[in-house]
Amino acid sequence: MKGTWDVVIVGGGLAGYVAANYLAKTGMSILIIEKDKKVGGRARTDKINQEFFNLGPHALYKKGNAVPILQELGIELYGKSPKLQGLLMNDKVEYTAPFNPLGVFTTGFLSWKERMEWLKVLVKLKSTDIEKLSEQTFQQWVQQITNSKNVQSLLLILGRLATYCHAPEKVSASVIVTHLKMVTQGVLYIDKGWQTIIDQLHNKAVISGVQIQTGVIVNEIKMAENNIILSLSTKEELICKYVLSTTGPQELMKMLGDNTTQTQMDFFAQMSPVKGAALDIALTQLPKPNRLFAMEITEPFYYSVHSNSAVLSDNKNTIVLHVFKYLHPDDNIDGKELKKELEQFLEKIQPGWQKHKISSRFMPTITVNQRLPQIGDEQKLQRSKSEVTGLYLAGDWVSSHSILSEGAVSSAKQAAEEIIEKEQR
Ligand SMILES: Cc1cc2nc3c(=O)[nH]c(=O)nc-3n(C[C@H](O)[C@H](O)[C@H](O)COP(=O)(O)OP(=O)(O)OC[C@H]3O[C@@H](n4cnc5c(N)ncnc54)[C@H](O)[C@@H]3O)c2cc1C
Repeated sequence: MKGTWDVVIVGGGLAGYVAANYLAKTGMSILIIEKDKKVGGRARTDKINQEFFNLGPHALYKKGNAVPILQELGIELYGKSPKLQGLLMNDKVEYTAPFNPLGVFTTGFLSWKERMEWLKVLVKLKSTDIEKLSEQTFQQWVQQITNSKNVQSLLLILGRLATYCHAPEKVSASVIVTHLKMVTQGVLYIDKGWQTIIDQLHNKAVISGVQIQTGVIVNEIKMAENNIILSLSTKEELICKYVLSTTGPQELMKMLGDNTTQTQMDFFAQMSPVKGAALDIALTQLPKPNRLFAMEITEPFYYSVHSNSAVLSDNKNTIVLHVFKYLHPDDNIDGKELKKELEQFLEKIQPGWQKHKISSRFMPTITVNQRLPQIGDEQKLQRSKSEVTGLYLAGDWVSSHSILSEGAVSSAKQAAEEIIEKEQR
């Protein structure tokens, strides 16, 4: 690492790599610093034995903003879409999920009147003007769009599925409905996991001259008169014109120390992450092969066999599935209890699955998104982004309109474009 750079990007995840690829086209000198030994952040895939495990269930929206941005950068996306079908369950009963036309007309979950109402709500969803939802919580929107309790339940289930947010009374309707619209247009499960996206971005960045340093932590970002100084865990200091931070808000605050403002501190301090408990499993076979997707109706549980759509093992017969519990920000976390709950949920769907287990991995509280999107975040984000000259932000918490990979990828492109525009001025 030489001492002076045009742009230093903190974080080698999806946002860091997307930004690096856009910036690399300008000929500026660019360095990515990643604290982990491996790049990829939460889009990392771990190969365990012959299986490819994403960090919990990962699905890319087919009709979101991330896919066209990745394609613009020349990234190839191999994989397939899971069918919009499966089971809805509660303690005692299972129903066909009404997520496709056949499901709507055969499900026992809805009466005939409710089926018509559900179809009407799906049509309304398509034409909903997101701009008009900025002052509403998702729960308020759900209660306003339909009086039917069962149709409200379906919207809450789809809301969890689309965004991993399980706090309808807190989250902003505009972000959740934006993602609901996307999820109803299908998702992609990626062959060999999301690491393939990171690897392609990494290779393209390296070819374009981007330097990448792993295993190094940025401890401090200090503002000097005409440039920015970064202090690293290696005791080195770097000087640069622009810093693009893709870390979470808490890490950013730590790095900024006194260089942050009260507005930023207040906003970052009240921000809470979206968390979940993930159980990733490889099996030799499924006890009930036709059961590929299920959601609990009132409890926040998810199950999906990702290997049914994507290649996720070197052995074509192996099953890779994900079980997940969406956590509420106020939940008390008991790792042992969560693992038991997830295993019991899977036992209901695939009785005797333990006999077929090859490997599994349990993560009790993984951060899915760095910001639970709340009403009013939009203005606060705008203000926070422009507080410190030369510092740009990207990541899944930075975009005001979207979260998850959508937020990470679109905010990264935007931050890169802002730097390029500043440089050209
Ligand atoms: C269980 C789970 C399921 C998910 N499912 C989906 C899904 O279905 N669809 C979807 O679109 N998205 C999904 N996501 C979200 C998606 O993975 C993330 O939104 C995306 O990967 C975030 O990318 P990022 O670059 O913003 O952040 P990160 O991937 O977190 O990258 C930030 C990087 O910064 C590094 N870093 C932090 N501090 C420092 C420092 N001081 N110095 C140097 N480096 C530092 C970190 O190590 C990290 O690698 C899921 C996430 C999880 C965990």
